[in-house]
Amino acid sequence: FVHQLTDDRVGLDELLISPLRLSPQAALPLPPALYGPTRPNSRGVDLTVQTERAPLLQAHAECVVPTVAETALSALPEAFARAAQAGRAWRDTPVAERATVLRRAADALEADTARLCALLVKEAFKTWGDAVAEVREAVDFLRYYAGEAQRLMAPIALPVRPDGVHEGSEGQGEAGFGDARQALLGVTGERNTLRLTARGVWVCISPWNFPLAIFTGQVAAALATGNTVLAKPAEQTPAIAHEAVRLLHAAGVPEDALQLFHGPGETVGAALVAWPGVAGVVFTGSTAVAKHIQRALAAKEGPIVPLIAETGGINAMLVDSTALPEQVADAVVQSAFRSAGQRCSALRLLCVHEAIADGVIEMVAGAARELVVGDPSQLSTDLGPVIDREAFESLQRHLQRLERSARDHLPPLPAAPPAMPADLAPVLAHLQAPRLFEVASIAEVRQEIFGPVLQVVRWRGDPEAVIDQINALGYGLTLGLQTRIDGRAEALAARAHVGNVYVNRNIIGAVVGLQPFGGEGLSGTGPKAGGPFYLQRFCAEQTVTVNT
Ligand code: GLU
Repeated sequence: FVHQLTDDRVGLDELLISPLRLSPQAALPLPPALYGPTRPNSRGVDLTVQTERAPLLQAHAECVVPTVAETALSALPEAFARAAQAGRAWRDTPVAERATVLRRAADALEADTARLCALLVKEAFKTWGDAVAEVREAVDFLRYYAGEAQRLMAPIALPVRPDGVHEGSEGQGEAGFGDARQALLGVTGERNTLRLTARGVWVCISPWNFPLAIFTGQVAAALATGNTVLAKPAEQTPAIAHEAVRLLHAAGVPEDALQLFHGPGETVGAALVAWPGVAGVVFTGSTAVAKHIQRALAAKEGPIVPLIAETGGINAMLVDSTALPEQVADAVVQSAFRSAGQRCSALRLLCVHEAIADGVIEMVAGAARELVVGDPSQLSTDLGPVIDREAFESLQRHLQRLERSARDHLPPLPAAPPAMPADLAPVLAHLQAPRLFEVASIAEVRQEIFGPVLQVVRWRGDPEAVIDQINALGYGLTLGLQTRIDGRAEALAARAHVGNVYVNRNIIGAVVGLQPFGGEGLSGTGPKAGGPFYLQRFCAEQTVTVNT
């Protein structure tokens, strides 16, 4: 990534940036049970996977992004009624069968990797490396939640033994309580059983920055647990969602159990959220919109509706004077600039100890200059354009402010505009090269800038005080720590109010099932996508107590 790559020299697999590549243990295979019978399939984990580039390029040549019409809001009452009706059969379908359907969908997505990647490149301007990683993540979500639903939805007989084994729960199906008769009788002398149940119709609202992976993850979590879904993908990326839904339906998800709504959040998203009877909302996007949804749900008549929100972050990396500058530079460049900085996990604020600050800043700026910014369909491109004109203009406003108020370590070079095919010209007007600004204090960094713009601040004294200042920003998504002092990373991680801490590596690319992802505070309501507690948030719990 840091080095210039050319189409001639590298296979696509080499373009993939493994967050784990620096660590030899990471090459160990995952336990096969986690992802089913096929090879490990998470991003960056299986270093042996070779991605053929010829099929990708062929798919790209053939790919036409279909235009997708906005859904008329008049369709909502009937769509909701059908989703609610379909939910009765879907939640009574044994969890193993629902899991089979999701695994079939995972196989279908995997088999269609080339076409889906081509669509991600054309519709969302992903680089090829990001596109392949994203398809893999979507596949992982489907397989992981299929397995998790089977694990979680079996009724458990209570009390739970001190060793955590639920007496009598082994071999029980989700539907019946028959075997629970073998349960221990609690001190009440009754038979007590607890199970998770579907809540009903969920509204899933997903972002354009992971238009396949996050879309599929939300939908898979709701469906695996027996809920049905009205899904609204970001209006910038409807076609990829359309494809995912087509594959899910073909795999056996009933059409009424998963219906798509296309259109802007302000109108279509708002109408879905406001609809009476919606059982829950899962949303990934901005903090402001998450709060808006929360207020809209609270204002409705009727039941209290849960919201699962994953929003942004002013994600920081604390680098102390013992850190390895080369490792830091590599981690910083990946975290801040990969995907053109359009990840909510991306690095926004580098806090580097003053003793090594000059060297680190120089190295980061030097490496960032090497990145190829241009047409995302070229294999050698590191950063494609940002998603749309609005995003680009918002970035320019932030840059103008920073150019006035901060020290510019990476001013734009006068460069010839990149070679661009005519049909891409409007999109390539939204190219943004990496920028790096030094600010005087952490407290100055108040807003998330969703693009390849990094702010750096020097510190000295106690690293604990730095963590306190980062906490005071109010976000809590990802945090990087770079240190070789024994025990320091653990202590600082414990002090930080964040969802994901990464030590001596980059801070992006959480792997499903291994690095559950999600933040706190202004960064979200807390549930961790790809983690063992996520599916519970989509369920109600029911305790049945039988006087025997
Ligand atoms: N899960 C992604 C990562 O770890 C970020 C998701 C997002 O940007 O919403 O990089």
